[in-house]
Amino acid sequence: MEDVQAATDAWLARLPVSERLAAQAATDTRLIGWIAGAVVVVAAAALLTRMGVTTRLAKRLETTGPRPWLTAAMAAGVTAVALLSAKAFVDASVAWRVRTILGGAGAAGWPAHFVAAAAGVLPSVLLAVLLFPPLAWLMRRTPRRWPLIVGPATAALILALGWLPYALSAGGAGPPAPPGAVQAGVAQLVAETQLPAVAVRQSADLALDADVTGGFGRARVVVGPRLMAGPPAEARAYVGHLIGHYVHGDVLIVCLVAGAVAWIGCWAALNGAAPLARAMGAREARGPADPAATPALALIFAATVTVATLAGAAYLRWANVRADAFSLAHAREPDGLAAVIEDEWRRDPAHDSVAPSPLEAALFYSHPPLQTRIAHAMAWKAAHPR
Ligand SMILES: [Zn+2]
Repeated sequence: MEDVQAATDAWLARLPVSERLAAQAATDTRLIGWIAGAVVVVAAAALLTRMGVTTRLAKRLETTGPRPWLTAAMAAGVTAVALLSAKAFVDASVAWRVRTILGGAGAAGWPAHFVAAAAGVLPSVLLAVLLFPPLAWLMRRTPRRWPLIVGPATAALILALGWLPYALSAGGAGPPAPPGAVQAGVAQLVAETQLPAVAVRQSADLALDADVTGGFGRARVVVGPRLMAGPPAEARAYVGHLIGHYVHGDVLIVCLVAGAVAWIGCWAALNGAAPLARAMGAREARGPADPAATPALALIFAATVTVATLAGAAYLRWANVRADAFSLAHAREPDGLAAVIEDEWRRDPAHDSVAPSPLEAALFYSHPPLQTRIAHAMAWKAAHPR
């Protein structure tokens, strides 16, 4: 056990102490920013509701008669502008603080960060303006049953965008990898795990370490230039991890988790939007399609997206332990695995803490923290002497 601790510490000692401390400070700042973002968005929605902004807007638009489509579009637009601008303000401040802490090239000022964050507001507002009127129409047409349409449709969209490209191995494949130690080592791993891939391919994409994609009984293995030129142990360890994800269907499961949360979110909107709006001061709110309930509906939407993201990340943190275990069991390269995940951390501009608090891990991590993953590899190594 002491050997495992010492071996883990030796790997971590390869990272400069100053970098590890900066990463911890940056992660702590993100945590404060996350909480501030949630508070600001909830406060903005409560303020909009209390001031009756969307209700007054609807009254002004409907002086000559009901115009539900226009009213829904405008209520969605005003709500989206208010909530997303408030969020962009917080996001820019967090990004600016984090960049300052981590230093390095491109440490831009706050205005540049705000411009970058605000650039995302307009497309999202347009999307809200276009999508909410038909949704509100559906809510008025089938007040009790619309989640039965919107829930599965959202889940299908998530699968189509998140899983289908993976299952179909979308994107350029690259030529078969040239014969060599890396190619042979990975090919041996593919054969041993009985992965249904015909050849190990190589990619010219510098940003790609490796990729194992596929579905419907076939798979594609692509190794990027950096791993191709490195030691076979690292390519084998990393591809072994990715084969683990393929074998366990992790991409499909994470999309199903997100789709299930989206469906639950529809029921939450059906039953919760009007009561939430009334609680925030809009006493006249009757249902989710009511303009008075639009800010409350936006809050439920934001909460649904957040829960879907956190649930997906929680599944992935668990699935990544299993993928590391799969890599260790089949590639049998604990040092290669430690080296490749440490190298990934070094190149990651986000620079997450190597040992975050449980709350930070729950909010920001799709993988176990670096220290945990290396300790896992070293524990396997100690239990399997060569
Ligand atoms: Zn993974």
